[in-house]
Amino acid sequence: MQTIEDAIIIGSGPAGYTAALYMARADLEPLVFEGFAWGGLLQQTTDVENFPGFPQGIVGPELMQHFRDQSERFGARLETDDVTAVEFSPDASEPHKVWAGDDLHLARTVVLAMGAEHRKLGVPGEEELSGRGVSYCATCDAAFFKQAPTVIVGGGDSAMEEAIFLAKFAAKVDVIHRRDEFRASQIMLDRARQVPNIELVTPYTIDEFVAREGSSLTHAHLRNTVDDSTRELEITGAFIAIGHDPQSELVRGQVDLDDDGYVVTQGRSTLTSVPGVFAAGDLVDHTYRQAVTAAGTGCQAALDAEWYLRDAAPFSSEARAAQA
Ligand code: NAP
Repeated sequence: MQTIEDAIIIGSGPAGYTAALYMARADLEPLVFEGFAWGGLLQQTTDVENFPGFPQGIVGPELMQHFRDQSERFGARLETDDVTAVEFSPDASEPHKVWAGDDLHLARTVVLAMGAEHRKLGVPGEEELSGRGVSYCATCDAAFFKQAPTVIVGGGDSAMEEAIFLAKFAAKVDVIHRRDEFRASQIMLDRARQVPNIELVTPYTIDEFVAREGSSLTHAHLRNTVDDSTRELEITGAFIAIGHDPQSELVRGQVDLDDDGYVVTQGRSTLTSVPGVFAAGDLVDHTYRQAVTAAGTGCQAALDAEWYLRDAAPFSSEARAAQA
């Protein structure tokens, strides 16, 4: 008979590894599918200066290595493999099914922690200069652009928030937005307009990011979306803030998602629409999207799952005996 795991965790950012740590310490020996690109969005960042406990800062990949090591130390079983399909039992009358390729795994509880991805512009130079001038997180990287000419791309609340933060460091912040109307709330727009070194540049898109000297960003080519005219901006920092996409395709049709594709959880818990399936981190979070908040909800998911196993005892030997 196939083993039924107490817990399978899908994802390996701060939420996934924190859930793994807590479940491992509860002796649940969680099976963690950390994926081939383990570590989540922090693997793409340089210095992380806002994660509590590291007063000198720490680079993102090193922080994720600590998360990983700590969960493993207490018995989390890490599989560097991608989950390819899931089939959850809607009423938890059967164990939940998780496939990695042809390998089927059964579980009493599943924690979803696949995170989100920064939406990409998809223009030449963006990928090549990522980490060398192009960034997706002003909160993380603004301090590296002291007195620099910079741009923020986007017209939503994130773009305004990032611009206001970046403007404390940079010499100039041009907010490049493709329309004359902004999606950002009036209050955020007003705040941005009041900052003297922020300029709203519309209606423009970025055609290309360029490194003219050496290997770091020096210029952006802009195109007017109405009259097609072009212009060039000299910049050393560009922050893309055009939204996030939760990585929820794997579970679409299995748990409830909201209109933007985020997994819906019940109240302040991490419980999804399916008993025994929990979700944490950026997969759920529209708003905060910080490593520390993702870690916090990973902890909540582990505790919610632990309590569920204790109270519902799905497929435990006691439950089987009671059914017999
Ligand atoms: P958003 O509201 O979806 O805005 C994304 C912006 O990026 C839009 O202006 C959009 O332009 C632009 N955009 C999208 N794809 C683009 C592309 N390929 N090229 C150029 N521009 C593109 O996303 P968000 O700003 O990340 O906000 C997400 C949610 O979090 C919102 O509900 C927001 O209110 C909330 N939030 C709130 C706060 C706060 O209250 N302090 C802070 C941050 C976020 P179009 O408008 O033309 O579509």
